[in-house]
Amino acid sequence: MTQIEIDKESGFCFGVVTAIHKAEEELAQGGTLYCLGDIVHNSREVERLKAMGLITINHEEFAQLKNVKVLLRAHGEPPETYEIARQNNIEIIDATCPVVLRLQKRIKQAYTQEDPHRKQIIIYGKNGHAEVLGLVGQTNGEAIVIEKLEEAERLDLSKNICLYSQTTKSLDEFGQIVEYIKSHLSPEVTFEYFDTICRQVANRIPNIRKFAASHDLIFFVSGKKSSNGKMLFADLWSHLYAEMADGRNIQIPPDEDSGKESINPRFELTKIIS
Ligand code: SF4
Repeated sequence: MTQIEIDKESGFCFGVVTAIHKAEEELAQGGTLYCLGDIVHNSREVERLKAMGLITINHEEFAQLKNVKVLLRAHGEPPETYEIARQNNIEIIDATCPVVLRLQKRIKQAYTQEDPHRKQIIIYGKNGHAEVLGLVGQTNGEAIVIEKLEEAERLDLSKNICLYSQTTKSLDEFGQIVEYIKSHLSPEVTFEYFDTICRQVANRIPNIRKFAASHDLIFFVSGKKSSNGKMLFADLWSHLYAEMADGRNIQIPPDEDSGKESINPRFELTKIIS
C-alpha cells in the first residue's frame, strides 16, 4: 500500500513565521498595512495574507508612500529604506529576522571600525537577493558579493579580507571558499571569516537527505523564488545523483519512528513545484 509522509522538518523557518505573525497581528487591528516585497516566497501564503488585507509593494512604490504603515520582511533592508521611511513619515513594522539583524550589525561594525589597513568585506551570497542588498547596504555599497567558489578567483588576495555569508548559502561551498582564499592569500595580509549561515537552513540538509533516503518518490514543494528552497533542492539533487552514480545502496541508521532497519531506495526526485 502506498504510504505518503510529510517531512516533519519541512515548513517555514522561524524568521518567516515570526514575520507572518506580525503581519497577522497588525492586520487584526484594522487599517492598511503594506509589505515591502513578498513576505515569503510562497504564492499561496502571499495570497492568504492578501485576502486578509496585506498589500505587497516594491521599492519604487514604497518611496512614493507617505504617512502609512509598512512591514519589513525577515530578509531585512539596507539603511536607505529606513531613511526613506523617516523622511516620508512611514511607520515601520520591522520583522527583520534577528539572525539577519545580527549579521547586518556585524558587517556594519567591521565596515565602520577604524582600521589603517582597510579590509575588503566579502559576502558569499546571491547578487540582488533582498537579504544581500540589506547586507551590502551596511557598507555603503562597497562590499563585494561572490555567488560561488569560482568567483573567489577574481578577489584581490593581496589585501586584507573579511568574509561573511548570506544566511541561506551552502555550508560546504562556504568551506571551499575559505580554503581557496587561505591557500591563495598573500602572506602579509590578514583573513578573517565568519560562518554566518543560518542553522535553520543548514540543519535541514542532513534531515532532508535522511528523509529522501527512506522514500521511493520525493515531491519537493517550494516557492520557485525561494533561496532556501533552491539551495535545499540543489543539495538534495546532487547528493542523490552522486549516490546513484556510485551505484551504492544507501544504508541509513534504523529510523526510530518507523522501525525500518535499512533502505535500498529507488530514488525519484521531482522538480520544484510551488
Ligand atoms: S536567518 Fe534563518 S531563520 Fe532567519 S529568515 Fe533567514 S533562514 Fe529564516
